[in-house]
Amino acid sequence: MNLTATHINYQQICKRKLWLFANGINMEHTSDMVYDGKLLHETSYPQRAERYEEMLISAEYEGVSLFGQIDYFDARNNTVHETKRSDKVEEAHSRQLKFYLWLLELNGVEEATGLLEYPKLRKTDEVFLDDKDREQLKKSVSEIKTLIESDTCPPAINAKICKSCSYFDFCYSGE
Ligand code: SF4
Repeated sequence: MNLTATHINYQQICKRKLWLFANGINMEHTSDMVYDGKLLHETSYPQRAERYEEMLISAEYEGVSLFGQIDYFDARNNTVHETKRSDKVEEAHSRQLKFYLWLLELNGVEEATGLLEYPKLRKTDEVFLDDKDREQLKKSVSEIKTLIESDTCPPAINAKICKSCSYFDFCYSGE
């Protein structure tokens, strides 16, 4: 089973969303979003192209294959850079970055620092991984595994967030 930061994020938002995504029902234009993010990074920080490296990283944890695509890793300063197009700071962003820091740690790269960059806000937040985060990530992986392996799709949650969810029509078109 493969797991990425998207799974971790969806788990926090809605179990049904996670189940649908993990079972191949995907409404997001992921490739466009990845392209947008890359473009944003290149236009906001053009001087980085040569000094920093984009990095694919993976690790195994309790039979689950974990994957991450790190925007830029500055090996000299042991720092992971993640650039967000958003004009709003969100908990999901630091959760994603902590997942990457954990993946690095599972690969023997310890005490890396995360930098969350918001070019539109002209703001950078530092992100660190602590014991509580590690425990939370381990728990998430195990809960996600159980949920994904279930044959039953969890019910719709009827929450405010549904209105901006890509699965809205899928979840509520029968009502
Ligand atoms: S529309 Fe609501 S219930 Fe359906 S997947 Fe999205 S968040 Fe979950």
